[in-house]
Amino acid sequence: MADIDAVVVGAGVIGLAIARRLATAGLSTILVEGDAVVGNGTSSRNSEVIHAGLYYGATPRKRAMCIAGREHLYAYARMRGVAHRRIGKLIVAFEAAELATLSRIMDDARAAGVDDLVALTGADARALEPELRCAGALLSPSTGIIDSHGLMQALLADAEDAGAVLACRTRVSGLVPGRGGWTVMVDGEPALTATRIVNAAGLGAAALAAATEGLEHVPTLRYARGHYFTYAGRVPFTRLIYPVPVPGGLGTHLTLDLSGNARFGPDVEWIDTIDYRVDPARGDSFRAAAARIWPALDPSRIAPGYAGIRPKLGGPGDPAADFAIDGPTEHGLAGLVNLYGIESPGLTASLAIADDVALRIA
Ligand SMILES: Cc1cc2nc3c(=O)[nH]c(=O)nc-3n(C[C@H](O)[C@H](O)[C@H](O)COP(=O)(O)OP(=O)(O)OC[C@H]3O[C@@H](n4cnc5c(N)ncnc54)[C@H](O)[C@@H]3O)c2cc1C
Repeated sequence: MADIDAVVVGAGVIGLAIARRLATAGLSTILVEGDAVVGNGTSSRNSEVIHAGLYYGATPRKRAMCIAGREHLYAYARMRGVAHRRIGKLIVAFEAAELATLSRIMDDARAAGVDDLVALTGADARALEPELRCAGALLSPSTGIIDSHGLMQALLADAEDAGAVLACRTRVSGLVPGRGGWTVMVDGEPALTATRIVNAAGLGAAALAAATEGLEHVPTLRYARGHYFTYAGRVPFTRLIYPVPVPGGLGTHLTLDLSGNARFGPDVEWIDTIDYRVDPARGDSFRAAAARIWPALDPSRIAPGYAGIRPKLGGPGDPAADFAIDGPTEHGLAGLVNLYGIESPGLTASLAIADDVALRIA
């Protein structure tokens, strides 16, 4: 018999949401994190946007989990007092040539059941955000922002209240299936056994899968870094401002945090190793992207901020890949779920992903 019901590897927002879900369902659960603290990876290096679910026509799992996860997340944040605001966002066609893309986004969103988008003329948009110059825009009232650290602390507290145990500074080096369950290897040594394993290791998920005995298919993860530049000073916007999407990302946008501080980003740079440095030389392209959103900005106030890395299941030029949540049905190994490619909108979808994982290893 195994030592414990479930081990969740990785204490980002996804692993935390899953540990909470499993522990509150009554499973004895250990959440194992290689870093010294929770949420130090992608989960603290993003835009902190609660997405409405607008862009994911080609990736049905992302779309369904974003839409379900969004309402679940708003309700959870309200219930647990996690700071958030349904601030709304504008997706902007700066040129008339981009208006067709807005129409496609609107049609796609409607088809997915997101029916609260409002089409605006350039003048309508300017009435809402007087500093904006554009040919037209879409208003998404159900987009919001959330304190991602507050969210992760609430998830951790719930998981621990339900009996889950967090083990930091513990890097899982391998997983070995056996009759009574899985042996979890730490530093090459057997550390404990568990009936169920969830690999929510984010950027490290494929490496852990490669170190899982008996697993035949391990995808290749590619890294796409997104940089942010901050703006020192107040900006005259009250909503998030997005351009039309670009290949690999949503385009360099203006996001606001809950204190009203502004940042521009993220762009897309394909990289080979995990490296969070922000090259100040990218500043010129950020100043140009930011000036499209806010022509009157003071470019000298834009400074390097931080970077996050998207764990991509495809490379440059490939079609957008969906979230991969591989359970026993996919790989044939009882009790194991591997999550790959949990890029945006993973924060929004976290609670929906946790429900899905719980079903797969019930
Ligand atoms: C630039 C950018 C912007 C984004 N913006 C948004 C947004 O606005 N809204 C939204 O909904 N989503 C957004 N996302 C997506 C969202 O941030 C991610 O989907 C989410 O944070 C992924 O969480 P995670 O728990 O899977 O990964 P992580 O947060 O990276 O957590 C994985 C954890 O696993 C640990 N780990 C790895 N290997 C091991 C091992 N072998 N043993 C033990 N621990 C291990 C790591 O240390 C890490 O803490 C964005 C992503 C990026 C990159």
